[in-house]
Amino acid sequence: MTNLTSPPGSPALDAARQAYEAFRARNLNLNMQRGQPADADFDLSNGLITVLDETEFKMDGTDLRNYPGGIAGLPSARALFAQVLDVKAENVLVWNNSSLELQGLVLTFALLHGVRGSTAPWVGQQPKIIVTTPGYDRHFLLLQTLGFSLLTVDMQPDGPDVDAIERLAGADPSVKGVLFVPTYSNPGGESISAEKARRLAGLQAAAPDFTIFADDAYRIHHLSDTERDEAVNFVALSRDAGYPDRAFVFASTSKVTFAGAGLGFVASSEDHIAWISKYLNAQSIGPNKFEQARHVKFLQAYPDGLEGLMRNHAQLIAPKFQAVDEVLRAELGESGEYATWTSPKGGYFISLDTAEPVAARVVELAARAGVSLTPAGATYPAGQDPQNRNIRLAPTRPPVDEVRAAMQVVAACIRLATEEARGARA
Ligand code: PMP
Repeated sequence: MTNLTSPPGSPALDAARQAYEAFRARNLNLNMQRGQPADADFDLSNGLITVLDETEFKMDGTDLRNYPGGIAGLPSARALFAQVLDVKAENVLVWNNSSLELQGLVLTFALLHGVRGSTAPWVGQQPKIIVTTPGYDRHFLLLQTLGFSLLTVDMQPDGPDVDAIERLAGADPSVKGVLFVPTYSNPGGESISAEKARRLAGLQAAAPDFTIFADDAYRIHHLSDTERDEAVNFVALSRDAGYPDRAFVFASTSKVTFAGAGLGFVASSEDHIAWISKYLNAQSIGPNKFEQARHVKFLQAYPDGLEGLMRNHAQLIAPKFQAVDEVLRAELGESGEYATWTSPKGGYFISLDTAEPVAARVVELAARAGVSLTPAGATYPAGQDPQNRNIRLAPTRPPVDEVRAAMQVVAACIRLATEEARGARA
């Protein structure tokens, strides 16, 4: 650890150190690390808890208490979430409380059996999956835990670097697919453009079973009514490009109703929904139908439905994104001298890049001043940011005044770490 009481350097370094020490003396305890809803977000959905009374144990002619009902989910739930993903109910399977689990299940089935169009299970083919960086640490963890090798491409303002994906997938049949967040990405909030989505859907891959795994977790998480990114439809685009089985699109209600007790779902071709159902059926008699029925009844009755609920979330969350941007602009300026950061129109995160390679130092300084940030490097596979510049900011969980206070500390840490690095070079 660097000695914070080292002899004075430049006036800029001295000033940065003083400002930082003043924050440290305040003994703060703030958290900008957790990509979780705030309690006020959860409260919007508390009606879920009591939406069914003790006489309501039937939906779609099915007794929710008993086993039968279909492995792909309650018809009403499939229809509801089909609307979210812009597909038909036949193209959706609704499972339990986690879309990440569904991603793991589909990837595992691909390893063991191959997807439709595969000539062999993936597990014997030293399979590789392309991911975007900066990206979502749990994607990296999931893929590496299942034994996939990761190839990285940049996340750009209009989505993944598709040129790089074309080069990687065009040359090597062991490149089996790409896993990324198409709308309001984690952590930068970027959304894929319609043109890039079309190119991916029609990509000429060396593998006959190259697959798009689109984790569309934030597809409906707009921050405003007026400025929105348009989500793409990979199921339709792939079908139109002549690859009907190419895409799986995952989403959940984790940031819509309850993070730990919502519903995960996946869309693909009807054949691929049958493919997943076949393997799920071997390990489960079916998903929790009560949770599905609860969500259907609650969301259908919500004023303006899902759109109305998401608008209420936006009212809670947008001021927090705004606070991050305002504080960073005020404290660090807009020239990029200290850092640049994204200004997403939706999603849950902001991605910040320091001008100097000091991300780890910023996170360390922030921790010492009582502000917990996502560990530096978390947005890269194996936790290794080759440039040591990227920091994921998660403003949704703390109240807005805490977001503001935490960002003031973060800005002071960025200034200090930057001046230290520049001073060391001088
Ligand atoms: N995908 C992304 C991109 C996420 O950011 C998150 C939550 N942080 C998840 C998936 C987790 O979703 P679930 O709760 O449905 O497993």
